[in-house]
Amino acid sequence: METLHNYINGALVESLTNRFSPVYNPASGEKIKQVALSTVKDTEDAIASAQDAFAKWSRLSPLKRSRIMFKFKSLLEENSDRLAKLISQEHGKVYSDALGELTRGLEVVEFACGIPHLQKGEHSANVGTGVDSHSLMQPLGVCAGITPFNFPAMVPMWMFPISLATGNTFVLKPSEKDPSLAIEIAKLLSEAGLPDGVFNVVNGDKESVDVLLTDDRVQAVSFVGSTPIAEYIYSTASAHGKRCQALGGAKNHCIVMPDADLDMASNAIMGAAYGAAGERCMALSVVVAVGDETAEQLISRLQNHISKMKVGPGVISEGENDMGPVISQQHKEKIESYIDSGVQQGASLLVDGRELKVADHETGFFVGPTLFDNVSPEMSIYQEEIFGPVLAIVRVSDYDTALELINKHEYGNGTAIFTRDGETARQFSENVQVGMVGINIPIPVPMAFHSFGGWKRSIFGPLNVHGNDGVRFYTRMKTVTSIWPASVRLKQHESSFVMPTLG
Ligand code: NAD
Repeated sequence: METLHNYINGALVESLTNRFSPVYNPASGEKIKQVALSTVKDTEDAIASAQDAFAKWSRLSPLKRSRIMFKFKSLLEENSDRLAKLISQEHGKVYSDALGELTRGLEVVEFACGIPHLQKGEHSANVGTGVDSHSLMQPLGVCAGITPFNFPAMVPMWMFPISLATGNTFVLKPSEKDPSLAIEIAKLLSEAGLPDGVFNVVNGDKESVDVLLTDDRVQAVSFVGSTPIAEYIYSTASAHGKRCQALGGAKNHCIVMPDADLDMASNAIMGAAYGAAGERCMALSVVVAVGDETAEQLISRLQNHISKMKVGPGVISEGENDMGPVISQQHKEKIESYIDSGVQQGASLLVDGRELKVADHETGFFVGPTLFDNVSPEMSIYQEEIFGPVLAIVRVSDYDTALELINKHEYGNGTAIFTRDGETARQFSENVQVGMVGINIPIPVPMAFHSFGGWKRSIFGPLNVHGNDGVRFYTRMKTVTSIWPASVRLKQHESSFVMPTLG
């Protein structure tokens, strides 16, 4: 059986560990690989390799770094079929969704190709007589990324393309549940001409993460994962003087207004709730229907769509399923226990995904699409992130109550409203306490040249990922104010003890 180890200093390196974690094919439930859970020494070796590579890499011109990103982008495109199948095999999502994830990651690589422009800094001539001022956006040094299972390609690509393009070196600690993509990415970066040591992969768990959070050579940590771990990462990295952005969990609501186009809304909600088996931080898990009539009409459309959904393995020889399995047996059981709790706490279970059996895949980790009506805010299926194909309908009588519900929730990652009324949509986008807002768009994931991040307990740290925030996160600004001798000669050489006011 294949064992995945690390990628350090431009080569595959065997870990020193005696701890391993199984990697499954969630569609069959079989163990297909194992991954090394790296030791402290393995992780320190990766950091040392990134530290050694930093001096030379950071001095390379941004244009040369950007050309390597261009080459990497072409290699990603050439290898997209193979990579998407690998994602699908270890994660379970369907092939076209895996290709979609690769595309969204690739768009950040395209953004990073523009780094000579993005890293220019600012310049002001004559801030004082004969005095100029300009800023440098300098790289930080060794940066670390710790990523979740649900986007094994896209989430690392939210981080390292900008980090590398701005002149940093990088150590990635991918999820131990689907670790193959990280190693494949490392190989493609080397093939694209990235110098050895600039990008390293350490497979592992808390043991290696803790080294990344505390080692003095690591300057910045990007994390994406569940909220309790995000809080731990943010507080530990910050206490060790590191810059940190830690993106956490979500409970994304959409409001459906009585004037919404219900065909459009129900189609959109289906993909957003059940795509990738609900294992997306931007998955829509709560619909707030304004008015009973809206709820009834929406539910009948959703039930009709659900009855036609095809659930099965992510890659099949002909056609495609709509939804694959969830990541593990343990996660399947957790989702099913949430469904149990919804029933016990009094929600109306309209479609029960616990009963699903997929022919020839009886041992796969499948949960069918599940729909609850009459969900109320005290229920755990409303309050907690389930991260599975479970959609809750909450009925309210008016828009203000719907907005208040969203604003009171502890998470604030994504949200959407379905309406034909521009004024309501505008009011919603101004007043909702959520970081990413869709108007008749169910999953409003910002493009690579904008920045991605939620509010409230969905993010810790001031800067979002990718876009301009990503460039700011991976650079440190230095502002240079200069005057040249000729001007100095014209002035009297006198010491001044007051705050300089240059004008
Ligand atoms: P997770 O928090 O279990 O794991 C994320 C990473 O942290 C993994 O690399 C894991 O090895 C590491 N880790 C786990 N426990 C740790 C510990 N005790 N100490 C140190 N490191 C630890 O998350 P997951 O199950 O892989 O991913 C799903 C979660 O990620 C969901 O909550 C989802 O909402 C969230 N997510 C958020 C976003 C976002 O942009 N906000 C995007 C994708 C996923």
